[in-house]
Amino acid sequence: MIIRFVTCLLLLCSCLHAQRRPASAGIIGDTADIQTPVKGGFVLMGGSTSVDDAFKWMLERSGGGDVVILRATGTDAYNSYIDELGKSNSIETLKIDSRNMANNDRWYVGNGRLVKSDNMLPKEKYVMVIHGGAGTILKKNMTPEKEAAYRAALKEALTTGYQAIQAGKSSIDAVEATIRVLEDCPLFNAGKGAVFTHDGRNEMDAAIMNGKTLEAGAVAGVTNIKNPISAARAVMEKSEHVMMTGPGAEQFAKDAGIEIVDPKYFWTKERWDGLQQALKEDSMKSKLDHSYQPAGKLGIENHDNKFGTVGAVALDKAGNLAAATSTGGMTNKKYGRIGDSPIIGAGTYANNKTVAVSCTGWGEFYIRNVVAYDLSALIAYKGLSVEEAGKTVIAKVDAMGGDGGLIALDKDGNAALPFNTDGMYRGTVTADGKIEIHIYKED
Ligand code: ASP
Repeated sequence: MIIRFVTCLLLLCSCLHAQRRPASAGIIGDTADIQTPVKGGFVLMGGSTSVDDAFKWMLERSGGGDVVILRATGTDAYNSYIDELGKSNSIETLKIDSRNMANNDRWYVGNGRLVKSDNMLPKEKYVMVIHGGAGTILKKNMTPEKEAAYRAALKEALTTGYQAIQAGKSSIDAVEATIRVLEDCPLFNAGKGAVFTHDGRNEMDAAIMNGKTLEAGAVAGVTNIKNPISAARAVMEKSEHVMMTGPGAEQFAKDAGIEIVDPKYFWTKERWDGLQQALKEDSMKSKLDHSYQPAGKLGIENHDNKFGTVGAVALDKAGNLAAATSTGGMTNKKYGRIGDSPIIGAGTYANNKTVAVSCTGWGEFYIRNVVAYDLSALIAYKGLSVEEAGKTVIAKVDAMGGDGGLIALDKDGNAALPFNTDGMYRGTVTADGKIEIHIYKED
């Protein structure tokens, strides 16, 4: 039986003068104890002067195999040493671009051989990811009927986007069509289900971005546009501007032939009750003003602890990314407050070179952390995977006291859906049409 194993070696220059330590340092267990044949494995070593002994130790116990060393420097100085030991079938040194590579899945052992990603079984390639908001979404607060309704709405939205992509339409068409479905559904805090401001109005924000051209469009604080995402797209395609607000945006949308409705269209009982609850808490707060301690570090409270913003990111057949986000903002928002969703780089961003992102959560924190662009920058400048970059930016929001989540889809169809809340309405669809929907953290 040929036993194959792999050695990952990261040479750290600072370790070159390190004190010589016993080769077994840090080893937990001994391959001599293993009765069943070893098919393959990785050994990660941090360099230092004890690597010769470590190689020897390993080779003596492995009983032979193909040794592959991954080295940041790419020098194959260890090949002859390992050859001389005479315990291996073959020895090869491969250069790694960055130390991160040793930890990611571009290399893996399959059927006892080290395989590069090119030869790997294709990973699931996603073409669309959506969210319907993150927040205190707990199974114990959900009825089966309500959960079924959320799942059905998310599925309908994903199916709409997937069909557009399958038909060869652009990712921009796909995200707009998907968001329109969610805007028309009263379950989500966007369009028909938008939350109320302190003054009892519905003021909506939306943005869309084209990853191929880096063109973007956004509207903010609009009150009578049935589908704000279509108005955002019109700003992107039919004006020389990126963002329009309030009555100006509404006038522009009307002129562009976008459907205008009576603001009463946006009234829903659930959202109205949500505002009444928030107002009650507000008045309690002023009565207790002398002793009141604000909950958030920003000195404002997160009244609607269930965000319901909607977002979609898509990758079309031509390899173009797009992102879109639409929201009613936060319940009880005041003074023409605008959140992160319509701000390019904060709540929405797309760039074919990196990733498409749509965020949901406590907008002030997303604006201050420039979350969507930060995620893209971590991929562009640091070479992080979309998953690592997603985790990093949510950790930053979390560390500041904010909460929420995001969806991200990279240029290769890898998806990440991190959040630091109890749940996030979310769904994915793969290139071959497999739909997955999740709601809770433990889903
Ligand atoms: N991010 C949105 C805002 O702050 C709210 C949400 O995600 O539900 O306006």
